[in-house]
Amino acid sequence: MAASSPGAFAPAPALLAAAAGGGPLLFRQLFDAATGTFTYLLADVPSRQGVIIDPVFEQHGRDLSLVQELGIALVASLDTHAHADHVTGSWLLHEATGCAIGLAAAAGAENVTLPLAHGDRVGFGQRVLEVRSTPGHTNGCVTYVLDDHSLAFTGDALLVRGCGRCDFQQGDAHTLWTSITRQIFTLPEACQLYPCHDYTGRGVTSVAEEKAYNARLGGSATERDFVGHMEAMKLPHPHRIAEALPGNLRSGRPRQPQPAVSWAPLQRSYAGLPELTPAWLAAHRADVAVVDVRTPEEYHGPDGRIPASQLLPLPQLEARAAELPADRPLVLVCHSGSRSALATQQLLKAGRPQVANLRGGLRRWTDEGYPIEAEAPLPEA
Ligand code: FE
Repeated sequence: MAASSPGAFAPAPALLAAAAGGGPLLFRQLFDAATGTFTYLLADVPSRQGVIIDPVFEQHGRDLSLVQELGIALVASLDTHAHADHVTGSWLLHEATGCAIGLAAAAGAENVTLPLAHGDRVGFGQRVLEVRSTPGHTNGCVTYVLDDHSLAFTGDALLVRGCGRCDFQQGDAHTLWTSITRQIFTLPEACQLYPCHDYTGRGVTSVAEEKAYNARLGGSATERDFVGHMEAMKLPHPHRIAEALPGNLRSGRPRQPQPAVSWAPLQRSYAGLPELTPAWLAAHRADVAVVDVRTPEEYHGPDGRIPASQLLPLPQLEARAAELPADRPLVLVCHSGSRSALATQQLLKAGRPQVANLRGGLRRWTDEGYPIEAEAPLPEA
């Protein structure tokens, strides 16, 4: 399977290792509050190859920016099953990075490039996720188990103190009992289990904990107890199922191509800001106004400035925003991109729609060899 490029913004070489605390595996848990969905990002630090599990369509920008900032080459976007409550972000990630789309073949979805079956192994760098078939919530549920059995991603088969419902999508409580007891509870007691959902802030559990305390099948519960519990539950239909299930059976591919609504290829940073690269600004310099929010001393000083940029120091920005051109998008710049990030935020908050921060600021603009104008002689390198 082909690995993707790590994205337009190559991070510093040490970033991925530093982010992982020096260990060989990078692991991030992300949360979508609207649907209570957890998304997981795993990467093999030496090779930078990674996988994402259960991404959410509406969180695509967040997930992609994290992948890009950490310099991860996404090998695959994996879903634990065809969800009924949210649409997967797999198609969007596939389009953005070229990663594979992995889902159980049994789910029968379109656009899957990596159809999975029990016993398959999904490699990323030196690490491997083992695929275990765990049907019962749906007939296409899988659990992804890390090679050393320290972590497993159970989807909706097993939740923290609960489990997925069995009353639609070919669900079956007897099947789910068998899946959990044979495929998940046979993992080491200390194996940490990460669910697809939680609505009360519980992000992780362990095999030992769920064996002891799961409200439906822990302790001394038998299969009969479990099935009796599941069959007696009267659950409302998931309110997004009519939209979510068809969307997931296309692997999250939109029915219509998404219209390009933006004035520029904005990349939203993981911090949440719209940003542009020096290369884009250099190529589109005439189409935008560049606003320099440094001090007058810096603007007129030896570092120089982007040619034809307008000085408006950050402390005066809010009071003097009316002086900024209204007929063109604004690109904000400072020395490093930090003060201009705040300026970008302030202008967006004030209702200016077409505003972006220059990523890396004047420093990066200069490092990448784009022209500056300076009044004072440049300091010697
Ligand atoms: Fe589900």
